[in-house]
Amino acid sequence: MSVIDDVKQRLDIVQVVSEYTKLQKSGRNYKASCPFHSEKNPSFFVYPDRQSWHCFGACGTGGDIFSFIMKKEGIDFGQALQLLANKAGVSLAALTTPEKQTQNKEREKLFEINEAAAEYYHHALQSSSKGELARDYVAKRGLSAETIKSFQLGFAPEGWDTIKQYLKGKGYGEAELLAAGLLVERDDGNNHDRFRNRLMFPIRNIQGKVIGLGGRALDDSLSKYLNSPQTPVFDKSSSLYGIDRAKTAIRQKDQVIIVEGYMDALTAHQHGYDNVVASMGTAITDKQLAIIKNLTKNLILALDADTAGEEAISRSSEMLDKMLPVLPSFYGWVRYEDAHNAEVKILILPQGKDPDELITEDTSQWQKLVTDAKPMVDFIFESVTAKVDLTSARDKSSTVERLLPLLSEMKDPLRQAHYVERLARLLKIDEHALGDTLKRFRAIERKRRTTKDMKAYTPIVPAIISSSPLEQYCLALLLQYPELKSESTGLSPDYFENTENRELFVKWQQSDDLKSLKNSLDSTLQEYLEKLLDKTLLPVIKENETTRHETFNDCVTRLQEKRLKILEAEKQELLAIEAETGGVEAQLAKLEEQGLEVSKQLKEVFNKLDHRRRLARSNGQ
Ligand SMILES: [Zn+2]
Repeated sequence: MSVIDDVKQRLDIVQVVSEYTKLQKSGRNYKASCPFHSEKNPSFFVYPDRQSWHCFGACGTGGDIFSFIMKKEGIDFGQALQLLANKAGVSLAALTTPEKQTQNKEREKLFEINEAAAEYYHHALQSSSKGELARDYVAKRGLSAETIKSFQLGFAPEGWDTIKQYLKGKGYGEAELLAAGLLVERDDGNNHDRFRNRLMFPIRNIQGKVIGLGGRALDDSLSKYLNSPQTPVFDKSSSLYGIDRAKTAIRQKDQVIIVEGYMDALTAHQHGYDNVVASMGTAITDKQLAIIKNLTKNLILALDADTAGEEAISRSSEMLDKMLPVLPSFYGWVRYEDAHNAEVKILILPQGKDPDELITEDTSQWQKLVTDAKPMVDFIFESVTAKVDLTSARDKSSTVERLLPLLSEMKDPLRQAHYVERLARLLKIDEHALGDTLKRFRAIERKRRTTKDMKAYTPIVPAIISSSPLEQYCLALLLQYPELKSESTGLSPDYFENTENRELFVKWQQSDDLKSLKNSLDSTLQEYLEKLLDKTLLPVIKENETTRHETFNDCVTRLQEKRLKILEAEKQELLAIEAETGGVEAQLAKLEEQGLEVSKQLKEVFNKLDHRRRLARSNGQ
């Protein structure tokens, strides 16, 4: 038995969830007010039989014990496993290689050193005589004593070996201080303090551990901002400043606002905008998005009105394009929205102002900008159409050409219709003509795809495959045949009910190859990955490329079917419970409506499967 299964068997989801929210018995199951969003009527259910949970309210999602802990604590799979294994009394030590154990010890040491440095700097800011200048500076910038304390701001004095002497006195070696990035090595082999005469910002991870430090120059130093270098615990591109203080508010408000600088985030928090984090640079990376994905689907990016803003969008979306291919440049953001059912909005800052100044001057200005933040697609539409010469037919049609793939990509027909209308209005062209152009475009796209996909279809997946084996089969196919990656766009992480499978799938989506996938995994999942790589598949899968692709597509459809069926079953149960206990009528109506939506989707999947079966039969003749 794998450690994952062992943990699952020893823990009861009812018990674990009840540590976070008060559960109420409801038939065979339990219900509660959702611990992830605020609500009046309980719509969060726990199913002891299946050891799963589901929120029928705003979250509209569910999963197993691992996904619950990951979402609740804002941690990754490995950390959730650690936490639950502790709870279950399962030892993970046997799984951890001696190499890994040494690494973990090193990491812990670096956290400890960073924490000690942050404390020292904080003390220097609060009470040293040399810290006077820095105290004047923070007072001038309007930071309150409470903000300084809660974010543990600090001051690095001017000397060359202040922190070095202090931490050496605490028993740390120079090599360790170099590894933590607190010292800089000189050409002559000696070293000195990295941060001198700077206002210090400890950077913490989501669990609140100090992973690095940022320092702002208090003199006219060449580099205004200086950060810790990359270390085993710090990677600037995968950190968000303030995330430890903001995570609860992000979840409760179901929204995150991403600003650029430390001061922006601090001022926002000081004025009660506590769902704000700083990207510590202009471009937002996929690693930063991975942290946010666990907390909310609603993102607001605060960007400068000038080109820096636009550059930030295109640069960060290049990254997303790699993750989610197909569309060119910053359309990747829209793909991100689609893939994660997310909404990304743009908050455009007035020329030459940053959030820090705006909020300090007048909080209502900031509030208005947040409220008026534009959906990303609107922003793209407006940027692309802004420079169009409305008297030039050629200009108009080239604009339409640029935006067609984006329109065509939208899965929700209402959303699509909305933007067709909008584009027609912006370009002053006939909406129906534009609609027809889009239809033609889609037809060509579809034809291109179907002729590629539908050739000689024979379903191979054994009919007996059920539940988790199906998930494993699908993953094994993907892992053993990397070329299938390009066809996996229809596969959503939601289709994987088991967190270990879901986790592996998501990590695999983000990796370029097996090696980087393996490196990104926790040791438990590494072992699991090996198992899937060794899984024996039918010889025909190896021999016949077409069969391989078809089998994979079949798997995807079946996973979708499985998910919808579970969803429907859960809803049926819920309806029964509500009927028994006399649920609120409005809620029932809403559930029925949702139930209809699932039935509709299920029907579509059935039709798709049916169509394939018939095709397979006619091909067989
Ligand atoms: Zn919920």
